Amino acid sequence: MLTELRGLNEECGVFGIWGHSNPAAMSYYGLHALQHRGQEGAGIVVTDGKSLRAVKGEGLVNDVFNNGKLEQLEGHSAIAHVRYATAGGSGIENVQPLLFNSTTGSLAIAHNGNIVNATRLKRNLEQQGSIFQTTSDTEVLAHLLKKSRLPSFEERAKQSLRLLEGAFAFIILTEDGMLVAQDPQGMRPLSLGMLDNAWVVASETSAFDLIGAELVRSIEPGELLIINDNGCRSERYMEKRDRAICTMEYVYFSRPDSDIDGINIHSARKRLGKQLAKEIFIAADVVTGVPDSSISAAIGFSEATGIPYELGLIKNRYVGRTFIQPSQDLRERGVKMKLSPVRQVVKGKRVVMVDDSIVRGTTSKRIVNMLKEAGATEVHVVISSPPLKNPCFYGIDISSDSELIAANNTIEEMRVLIGADSLSFLSVEGMVKAIGRPEGEKNCGHCLACFTGEYPTDIFPDTKLPHEKELVR
Ligand code: SF4
Repeated sequence: MLTELRGLNEECGVFGIWGHSNPAAMSYYGLHALQHRGQEGAGIVVTDGKSLRAVKGEGLVNDVFNNGKLEQLEGHSAIAHVRYATAGGSGIENVQPLLFNSTTGSLAIAHNGNIVNATRLKRNLEQQGSIFQTTSDTEVLAHLLKKSRLPSFEERAKQSLRLLEGAFAFIILTEDGMLVAQDPQGMRPLSLGMLDNAWVVASETSAFDLIGAELVRSIEPGELLIINDNGCRSERYMEKRDRAICTMEYVYFSRPDSDIDGINIHSARKRLGKQLAKEIFIAADVVTGVPDSSISAAIGFSEATGIPYELGLIKNRYVGRTFIQPSQDLRERGVKMKLSPVRQVVKGKRVVMVDDSIVRGTTSKRIVNMLKEAGATEVHVVISSPPLKNPCFYGIDISSDSELIAANNTIEEMRVLIGADSLSFLSVEGMVKAIGRPEGEKNCGHCLACFTGEYPTDIFPDTKLPHEKELVR
């Protein structure tokens, strides 16, 4: 996956385990399976029932947990996190899980997503005396939890979660238990599993496979799980709304071996490629996919059209971390280091290049150019999703439509800008149908905002929600 090169980045991956003899090691392996969701920071917090201890750092999982650091983390339960710095910026203070020690009990939080009313909540809390340690939106939840006067931690959590708007998958660790919460629309993937007698929670099911855990089920929108030595109990902190799972999880972010709500990501991407073949016709000699996330769609397109699939582009997996940086300059320089055309495959051929999305267009332009330099006579760019025209406010790094080529150009203008012989996109209806979520909920339970501009939540809440007075007055 060329995540770091395109400017379309998932913010985070979360993992948690309760009741295991070596939770730090399981978390470490779990984070490896989630590494594609964030490469800028990683952390694990464990509890032994008496206190919480953290090891965190900037960089890849392997870089952070070197030199015996895992051995410092003894306990029976843990939560863990990998981060890509978008909301709140980079810096060690924003690396999660965030840990708050207090005489009334410690607390650690791992969060995937983005709280869209965090700024306003933070302002209110600061006016009432709260002092924030980080610039992360996640810290708002910790202050709300500490401010609440309700008697049980569970009630405080429910009250605090009700104040948040946006996308969030939270895992909260205390000395006594682990709380797991999904936002009322279920915008981020989050699943529950079991490993022997330990409860496991992860952003993606690929983390379960890596540690040998069994999938139990997806966490439901608006659900709060309370996991402790007595077992796992499901509660609801808010009425479930129509699900609005991030469609880009299926198209691009999640690993092909993960499942979301029972739908395997590789299979969904193959169907996206097959659907493309129904919607467009291209006369070509070979189909190739931009590695890694577009290969499944390219295979589907090839199978449906009969145009042979070939490995026309390969990814250099050993490029240093210098190129995994959220800056445009490094992203652009990184493309050449990361990808190479297979000259003998594309030379003299009309090539269909399948990609999952176009953000700024700079990467597509370079890849098209690379294939032409390698001797392709025609390069037809086929995108297995609709044009990205609107920013995302839910934890994906497309915060302004000025960054999006499709927001400011027609498809023909985009084709000219990237230098392709043709450029085609999948329709919104075709994408939703091909992914195959059940009908019944609005948009079959998808968030489609970056394609359609129809946001599933209030994105700039500027009036106080009535229940916000509970805590923030
Ligand atoms: S706006 Fe797009 S990227 Fe953001 S959550 Fe919705 S589908 Fe995902």
